[in-house]
Amino acid sequence: MKLLEYEAKQLFAEEGIKVPTGILVSKHEEILLHMDAIKGKVVVKAQVDIGGRGKAGGVLMADRDTVIETARKLFNTTIKGIPVQRILIEERLDIQHEYFVSITMDRAKKQPVILFAETGGMDIEETARKNAGAVRSVSFCPLLPDVPGFLLRELCGDAPSDIQKTVNRLYHVFCHKDALLAEINPLVTTPGGVYAADAKLIIDDNSLARQGIAVNRDLTEREREAEKHGFSFVELGGTIGVIGNGAGLTMSTLDLIEFYGGRAADFLDVGGGADSERVMHAVRLAASVPSVKVIVVNLLGGITRCDEVARGIIASGVTVPVIVRIAGTNAEEGRKLLSEKGYEMLDTMDLVVKRAVEVVK
Ligand code: GDP
Ligand code: MN
Repeated sequence: MKLLEYEAKQLFAEEGIKVPTGILVSKHEEILLHMDAIKGKVVVKAQVDIGGRGKAGGVLMADRDTVIETARKLFNTTIKGIPVQRILIEERLDIQHEYFVSITMDRAKKQPVILFAETGGMDIEETARKNAGAVRSVSFCPLLPDVPGFLLRELCGDAPSDIQKTVNRLYHVFCHKDALLAEINPLVTTPGGVYAADAKLIIDDNSLARQGIAVNRDLTEREREAEKHGFSFVELGGTIGVIGNGAGLTMSTLDLIEFYGGRAADFLDVGGGADSERVMHAVRLAASVPSVKVIVVNLLGGITRCDEVARGIIASGVTVPVIVRIAGTNAEEGRKLLSEKGYEMLDTMDLVVKRAVEVVK
């Protein structure tokens, strides 16, 4: 499980890594309660589970006067399609130099491997591509409680010794938290010492119980609803709602939407053998996504009966237009029910997706 930056930073701090002081908010108004703690310049950071936030507009600079407005705007955007539900407001560090450090497992060697670069920051991928020598790496016996000193020196080169210490602390996080990945980019030097300006931590799902981490923490209301019904559901920020049965069919529907220039609002797989009630809940759930303008129902009747699907769609009573493609078991009956109620239906997945893209244009 990938932790969000603020969660990872808490765990880093417990191992003695310095992190900027920060305030976590889920509404811009909450910032008002913390104005005493906000002195000068700050960084306003979307807590979303994706890389490259900075480049995608998820990391903004602000100060005491502009922080609320900056956070308000950030809450109203999506970062690579992900809605911003939490924002971390941090004191802005006076960065002198940015390093990159990342610890993971080398599966072939069965050893931890640490990568380090003297030029960290948002362009690390580019740096690594252009100059393979820019990223150094070391690996060592996993039974050692610390990174051996000679390897730290080899890895960190001329970087200050506090950087080496921080790399070793990050290794402690990696071990103690059963991590698959522990990364700081950028790891920075400032006049006040070495700080983790960013934090990335992926914990092995097999160890979540040992780590005392609840798997489904912080679900949104809609995600909880999806879970209740056993739907696979992911919000995607676009305008075309998608309901399918089977991950393959649902994914292909998303692909076609992209192909025709549309953007999906969600991925919703109702699973096998859906009855009318399940379908009804699925349609209501897809319709409750704020960005949705039209819903594509693309269901293949196998064990699932298309007449049940039709009844579910009709029972949902949603106002968002629903365009349907059903095929397979009892498809004729299902189509008849839907046409009586005036639903738009098309024979193929291609046609139904094209039509939905037209509707939202
Ligand atoms: P990412 O794009 O998701 O990796 O987000 P980061 O947390 O790494 O932030 C992106 C970039 O913003 C960093 O590489 C820094 O250059 C810059 N940044 C982040 N925090 C600070 C800060 O406290 N002070 C300054 N000056 N820049 C920062
Ligand atoms: Mn980063």
